[in-house]
Amino acid sequence: MDAAHTAVHIEEGRRHWYFEGRLAVLLAGLRRALPPRRVRILEIGCGTGTVLAALGEFGQTVGMEVSPEMLAAARAPAGRAKRSRCEAATERRPPVATILAAQCTDERVNIVTKTLFKKYRSAQDYAAADPAVFEQEIRSTGFYRAKTRSVLGMARALVERHGGQVPRTREELVALPGVGLKTANVILGNAFGDQAIAVDTHVFRVSQRLGLAKSDDPDEIHDQLCAVLSRPKWTQTTHLFTTHGRRTCRARSPACPHCAARALCPWPGKTKPRS
Ligand code: SF4
Repeated sequence: MDAAHTAVHIEEGRRHWYFEGRLAVLLAGLRRALPPRRVRILEIGCGTGTVLAALGEFGQTVGMEVSPEMLAAARAPAGRAKRSRCEAATERRPPVATILAAQCTDERVNIVTKTLFKKYRSAQDYAAADPAVFEQEIRSTGFYRAKTRSVLGMARALVERHGGQVPRTREELVALPGVGLKTANVILGNAFGDQAIAVDTHVFRVSQRLGLAKSDDPDEIHDQLCAVLSRPKWTQTTHLFTTHGRRTCRARSPACPHCAARALCPWPGKTKPRS
């Protein structure tokens, strides 16, 4: 089996892993030895490990846990022949969750938006909202006054400039109130299926620890990543680094001894195994 063209996708309970290179060859060889009820090798072959392609460019053996979202992205058919239901819905729905997510946990945003999205279904709904009422509805996400200004201002701009639809270009998106480069790239990469790097706190940290970028400015990190990663890998790399930053390369006490990218990582602050 050719290590350069081998990738293995493993399911362990509800967790998914991708491996490429020599480790993938080894795992493929161990297929029969793995406990069948707990660990399942789903796919072997080139192409299944595309989510790791960005790190694979270093020519090393790497493995990484991937989220269901990344899995879906990796399996999404190439090209954009058909407009997805998600894409069609996005054009109608303003990117409210992305704005609420600033300085807030995903869990809290999910709780708040579950109720919010039942009440407000279009840019017109948000544009007509009472700011005082809206502030209380999103209060638990923090910075609720500024977020209310951003969400309602963005909704009014969508109605006035774009007929209530979410625009498709980066230039039009960043011209909306409350929408910066990161938010615009989240929308382009996840909702419209374009290639875009969204530099959140995890991408900011992981890319610097891995030596791919260096700056205090997230927009400069974005430009540096765009320069070193090939365009077809931008969106998947964002998912990869975000998941890696949440689960392994945490801001405090990263799990370096268990990190699949340890051999590639030049960061001098790597943690050591506990003795
Ligand atoms: S070795 Fe440590 S610092 Fe480097 S990428 Fe892995 S978890 Fe992050």
